[in-house]
Amino acid sequence: MHLSIAGGLPCRMCLLLFSNDKMAKLTIKRLSPEEEFPDLSQHNNHMAKVLTQDMYTKLRDRATPNGFTIDGVIQTGIDNPGHPFIMTVGCVAGDEETYEVFKELLDPIIEDRHGGYKPTDKHKTDLNPDNLKGGDDLDPNYVISSRVRTGRSIRGFCLPPHCSRGERRGVEKMSVEALDSLSGDLKGKYYALKNMTDAEQQQLIDDHFLFDKPVSPLLLASGMARDWPDGRGIWHNDTKTFLVWVNEEDHLRVISMQKGGNMKEVFNRFCTGLTKIETLFKDKGTSFMWNEHLGYVLTCPSNLGTGLRAGVHVKIPNMSKHAKFEEVLKRLRLQKRGTGGVDTAAVGGTFDISNADRLGFSEVELVQMVVDGVKLLVEMEKKLEKGQSIDDLMPAQK
Ligand code: ADP
Ligand code: MG
Repeated sequence: MHLSIAGGLPCRMCLLLFSNDKMAKLTIKRLSPEEEFPDLSQHNNHMAKVLTQDMYTKLRDRATPNGFTIDGVIQTGIDNPGHPFIMTVGCVAGDEETYEVFKELLDPIIEDRHGGYKPTDKHKTDLNPDNLKGGDDLDPNYVISSRVRTGRSIRGFCLPPHCSRGERRGVEKMSVEALDSLSGDLKGKYYALKNMTDAEQQQLIDDHFLFDKPVSPLLLASGMARDWPDGRGIWHNDTKTFLVWVNEEDHLRVISMQKGGNMKEVFNRFCTGLTKIETLFKDKGTSFMWNEHLGYVLTCPSNLGTGLRAGVHVKIPNMSKHAKFEEVLKRLRLQKRGTGGVDTAAVGGTFDISNADRLGFSEVELVQMVVDGVKLLVEMEKKLEKGQSIDDLMPAQK
């Protein structure tokens, strides 16, 4: 029993309940929404922009069938206020139902984050690589490597912010069994994190194949790093061109990558592998979380839809210093990162350039934007190298 120091009485936070058989149970008094509402005054993220005290009061009495609550949804956005210029999302889903149960909060966030995507809008999927035009000829003197990734969630399991240890291990077991059936170029092996030495793990991270250690605030504050490294690992083929991360931010992250600028080949392998994996899960009697409105349902609302990030590591030291760089990226619907991952700064003019959108465009459309946009950035870089103007190459807003 939790007793207050003064007089040995139950602490004022506690309520002593006696059931009929006189068994004493101790429970915590539920404080009012006003007392629990987070201080969001210093925050710049989508969640903080949308969440009001009235909304919090309404949503606090709800839970998903798996017991995920509004406080679980918003914790990461409370602990990570964001940056004055970079708008983060500030919330996560704990299960497939989160997006429906807390839609008063999530619909406006999705609309804000995904360029006006409405609750009535329908998402389109196109995983036919033949529909991509070009893409096999990004200049390898500038484009160091090409990569396409997406996430997938397995129906019937809670998502990483809310899953139990046993569920996480269930996701791992089911995934490894399915992936072990891949053959030919895609044949590979699973490497559990807990069986790797620290040096092996670091080497895979340094070579850009493996997710980072749980250092990212998103991972930590949302609860996704609980029990680390239990249930986490990487599956990959021998050449490390097709990789699947298990139980990082999403149940699965499926990745196709290789050196150089042949995005077409990377996307071909991505579509073939992903379609095979989906079939393997269907054979196991389950499916990926998906609906017509949100497309593929993933942990972070920013990844809904395709979950696809197609990107290149590209060396553009002149272009990236140009006053119009940000404007060009915006018009091409592209985003930039450092090459060490999402929270890193670019070094030596080499950037990770990828599609900014996930939802409302098909997979093919997004990869096409990256292919066309990166070609233009490289063309601009070449002009700047020669001291020429890029004014005539400025693109229209896509
Ligand atoms: P994700 O969108 O997959 O979460 P991150 O920015 O977190 O991407 O990066 C994950 C890892 O993938 C990092 O090690 C990063 O260097 C690597 N990576 C991302 N894009 C590329 C690329 N085009 N070529 C090589 N490695 C890449
Ligand atoms: Mg990441």
